Amino acid sequence: MSSTGDPRQIRQSSKLLDVRYDVRGPILEEAQRMEAAGHRIMKLNIGNPAPFGFEAPDAILQGMIQHLPHAQGYSDSKGIYSARTAVSQYYESRGIRGIGVDDVFIGNGVSEMISMVLTALLDTGDEVLIPSPDYPLWTGATTLAGGVAKHYRCVEEEGWQPDLEHIESLVTERTKGLVLINPNNPTGAVYSRETLLGMVEICRRHNLVLMADEIYEKITYDGAKHLNAAGLSDDVLTLTFSGLSKAYRVAGYRSGWVAVSGPKHRAKDFLDGLTLLSNMRMCANVPAQHAVQVALGGYQTIDDLVLPGGRLLEQRNLAQRRLNDIEGVSCQPAMGALYLFPRLDPEVYGIEDDEGFVLDLLKAKKILVSHGRAFNYEDTDHFRLVTLPSVEDLGIALDRLEDFLADWRER
Ligand code: PLP
Repeated sequence: MSSTGDPRQIRQSSKLLDVRYDVRGPILEEAQRMEAAGHRIMKLNIGNPAPFGFEAPDAILQGMIQHLPHAQGYSDSKGIYSARTAVSQYYESRGIRGIGVDDVFIGNGVSEMISMVLTALLDTGDEVLIPSPDYPLWTGATTLAGGVAKHYRCVEEEGWQPDLEHIESLVTERTKGLVLINPNNPTGAVYSRETLLGMVEICRRHNLVLMADEIYEKITYDGAKHLNAAGLSDDVLTLTFSGLSKAYRVAGYRSGWVAVSGPKHRAKDFLDGLTLLSNMRMCANVPAQHAVQVALGGYQTIDDLVLPGGRLLEQRNLAQRRLNDIEGVSCQPAMGALYLFPRLDPEVYGIEDDEGFVLDLLKAKKILVSHGRAFNYEDTDHFRLVTLPSVEDLGIALDRLEDFLADWRER
């Protein structure tokens, strides 16, 4: 009997049928097989700073080490008091009113809070407006929660700013929320005040929850100014997501939060649901919660990495310039975050299967990037690379990419 016909097969839940997270999908498995066979792969696929030689500020490590002996028990399920106070005070210092200690939920990374919020918010068939391209957890977690992801366009020629008219046109009576990712993964866009005000206004008009994923808020380049969406209104329920993985380079600690602002009195039922889900998983990893107060409370800055001469800026500059120098490749400047999302002109490259393209690149040149459709982008002419490797390593990777693309053009 074939294994598929065997009634004793243990199957995954049908809830997972349409759930996708292709940035860690089959391509990564192929890379792992190649590594096991002895190949050295240059991994430009995941925004994980530590393996690229970025170190967390020492105070964060010391803070955690000091607290370790006292972090053995469960904490309050919304998080330890010092971490929630630090988050509340941080937003207050940014001019955002009304985020009290009880409005902060600390999680095992932003990822956990995204899943919990969507599970608490959505009924089957409820719709969420999500950017295309997106950070794909937003789409995957919406689907898993029984919701429907409706993707709105971001306009490449306008530095990937969201298309407000398109957002508005997607609103139906089932729409519950609007997601923005700013600075954006994968495009590097930093949204203008005008764009953000437009998004807030759409939420106001249609009573939508605004979900602002601002995990890259401190990573901006060339003077780009990040604005917290929560600071732009008092009357729109806004959930601000952020954490320590990127700006503080401790992705492995799994520490993030969601902060609630706006008309909370209208959201009591939803917030009770979120509290229930928090209670059900006891609490976030307690030692890592102690890092939050040190990170937000002390003098921790990322300026030495993103200002002129800074490593992240230099790497972004090199990758952006080298990509734009390749025939048929164009890449909007990344004004923030850790990624570039270049376009391969269909007239020149004619890529029909972007996943196949990325797989061929991996096999031929031992470079791992992510295909555009993994980010719920509908065309097959983009890919994402991370700008975390050193200038030397990025140079090697881009030499190889350039060779590969030259061969592809000859095909
Ligand atoms: N949101 C965005 C936009 C991200 O890019 C990432 C990670 O890459 C996350 C959330 C998840 O972050 P965390 O490590 O806090 O779970």
